Amino acid sequence: MISEWDVIWLVWAVGTAYRAPRTLKRWSLITTCDPLELCDGCRDERKSVMREAHDWDHFGPVGVPLLVLLEAMGWYIRPFSPAFRKAVGKDPLPTCSKGACLAHTRRKAAA
Ligand SMILES: [Zn+2]
Repeated sequence: MISEWDVIWLVWAVGTAYRAPRTLKRWSLITTCDPLELCDGCRDERKSVMREAHDWDHFGPVGVPLLVLLEAMGWYIRPFSPAFRKAVGKDPLPTCSKGACLAHTRRKAAA
């Protein structure tokens, strides 16, 4: 017997499993490439990722994978997060301006 909670949990687990490798790939790209090749939005994200990774450092080698997992686990709030941030008076998260940004061109090349 499958309850609706089983379905919700399954959707969440699939979404997390789908998102985690993509988050990891994106973060490893933006943190290892030359920041000059990134747009402003991605450079901001690079800075915050590196700062958070530094904060998570005391967890040792599992720190960054945990951070990626946490980010991936929140995939379902992503569509609402601009509204949340606005409600609490924070600036919207930087987004990629595409164009010549390396994070954008690399992703296109990989697709
Ligand atoms: Zn970008």
